[in-house]
Amino acid sequence: MAQDRFSLAGKNAVVTGGAQGIGKVVAHALAEQGANVALVDLNDATQVAAEIASTHGVRTTALTCNVTDPAQVADAIAGAAAELGPLDLLFNNAGIVLHKPALECTPEDFTRVVDVNLNGIFFVAQAFARHLVEQGRPGNIVNTASMSGTIVNIPQKQASYNASKAGVEHLTKSLAVEWADLGIRVNAISPGYIATEMTGTVREDWRQAWEGMIPFGRMGTPDELAGAVIYLLSDAATYTSGANIIIDGCFTVV
Ligand code: NAD
Repeated sequence: MAQDRFSLAGKNAVVTGGAQGIGKVVAHALAEQGANVALVDLNDATQVAAEIASTHGVRTTALTCNVTDPAQVADAIAGAAAELGPLDLLFNNAGIVLHKPALECTPEDFTRVVDVNLNGIFFVAQAFARHLVEQGRPGNIVNTASMSGTIVNIPQKQASYNASKAGVEHLTKSLAVEWADLGIRVNAISPGYIATEMTGTVREDWRQAWEGMIPFGRMGTPDELAGAVIYLLSDAATYTSGANIIIDGCFTVV
């Protein structure tokens, strides 16, 4: 296969949760493949956008947005298109985790996690797809699910997170089928334990327990997810939609 099938040159991409962690690293990787990138995050990603532009020579912008608010999401998608031009690609990745026993979870706790991780993924995908339809363009989406949407891992207790990520996996399949005739592909990645700000604050005994359970013997890095996202967003994957690539150092295989 020709190398350039993985090129994203000239494509305009939106990355949610792009201020740090997986989103930031994948945004760099998309830019390395030639994509212009709009970083959408609750936090200001201006500095990250500037770094990406100067490192990779692409156009970037940073938009502050809470993905749980459809009006803010619509503004962010419109803002990204106003800065970069018509949009092609979405890495729909913003998420939060809550470690709390289910018996102690308040309605607010559960709702907050599902709101960001599942509702937010839907609102962003919907706004992006509406933009594509308005523009009469094809496009494609990668949602960040998690291996926790498939398996239940001990010792941490995170029922709200696990349920939200299972929802993302099935939402991905549902949108892939519903939007197939619009030329919009929708896929997911399901990371295992990845070293980011999100996992950096967990208890040391949990970290050691996780590492002991991973056949690879270590956590992954965000950069080890980037190739799968590039593949799914590129013309190398034109017949792939509704797929979920698990990237977990074999955690869920054993
Ligand atoms: P992170 O906490 O380092 O980064 C998450 C980013 O999302 C932050 O920049 C944050 O500001 C942003 N964000 C959170 N809530 C938001 C909201 N309401 N609106 C807009 N932006 C919001 O986390 P990460 O480890 O980079 O995780 C990224 C994604 O990967 C998440 O969906 C997470 O669930 C998923 N994931 C992470 C791991 C892991 O081990 N790190 C494993 C599986 C899945």
